[in-house]
Amino acid sequence: MNIGFIGLGIMGSRMAAHLVKQGYSLTIHNRTPEKAASLIEQGATWADTPAAVAAEADVLITMLAHPEAIEQAAFGEEGFLDALRPDALWADSSTVNPSFTRRMAEAANDRAVRFLDAPVGGSKSQAENAQLVFIVGGEAQDLDTIRPLFEVMGSRIVHAGGAGMGTSLKIVLNLLLATSMAAFSEGLVLGEALGLPKTMLLNVLPGSPVVAPFVSLKKEKLEQGVFEPEFPLQWMQKDVQMAALAAYEVGAALPVGNATKELYRLATRQGLGNADFSAIYQFLADEG
Ligand code: NAP
Repeated sequence: MNIGFIGLGIMGSRMAAHLVKQGYSLTIHNRTPEKAASLIEQGATWADTPAAVAAEADVLITMLAHPEAIEQAAFGEEGFLDALRPDALWADSSTVNPSFTRRMAEAANDRAVRFLDAPVGGSKSQAENAQLVFIVGGEAQDLDTIRPLFEVMGSRIVHAGGAGMGTSLKIVLNLLLATSMAAFSEGLVLGEALGLPKTMLLNVLPGSPVVAPFVSLKKEKLEQGVFEPEFPLQWMQKDVQMAALAAYEVGAALPVGNATKELYRLATRQGLGNADFSAIYQFLADEG
């Protein structure tokens, strides 16, 4: 099976590395070619354009930042969609809004290309350790085609439904992640302002029933005030934006989510976009 992989950022580079390690024939492309160097050393083949990745691919995986990046790679100059063979399978693992996903599914189907949305749960370390959860929308038989690859890169596969249901579930999860992190940060800022030591707060609060379990994984960052990115804050801002857009399209109300969206927007504008999303604490602390 020939595999194409486009998007070698924090997540994509680590996911692709597992496929190369397993001996799969992998052709790769990234807008910034330097990021492909280590994968090429490990045995992957570089292609100069998205179209060149697609030409021989039975399966193409994309792991790109946002809808604009996918449109650029799929439909731009030397884009991959027209280059894919009929019956090839495109799996998009990027986190995007469901209506965008459905447009991609239609564009693929118009060309007789099969399509799955397959965003992932987990972050940098889960990508590194092949512990990702693949949250899949699309046809069961298409999932069966790619299942062995997902099993190499992850530890769990959830088939959420038809096209767009993978990204639907993913943005619900990230809405919860964004709001929980912001709520915890606000509590921490208040506690400190009231004179409670930060170390004590970080020992007592995570692990208690009122705090989301993932916050424990952010303790060290919060303690040291160093926010090396696992999940960049600018992409969290993008994901809450996608949730708000999806909510508008289906008539759901997101009062907490929309306030949170603006909070992450302001933090991005203040220069925290490339920090880990837990730096939302830093933003709130600095504002206090
Ligand atoms: P990242 O490190 O910033 O990588 C983003 C990728 O998108 C890079 O390959 C980048 O190319 C490419 N890209 C950005 N704009 C582009 C454009 N206009 N045209 C072509 N390529 C473009 O981000 P990441 O953390 O790997 O995230 C990738 C996706 O996974 C996002 O949708 C994110 O929301 C999702 N996700 C991330 C995490 C996480 O914890 N990091 C977890 C789950 C899901 P360059 O290298 O040239 O910039």
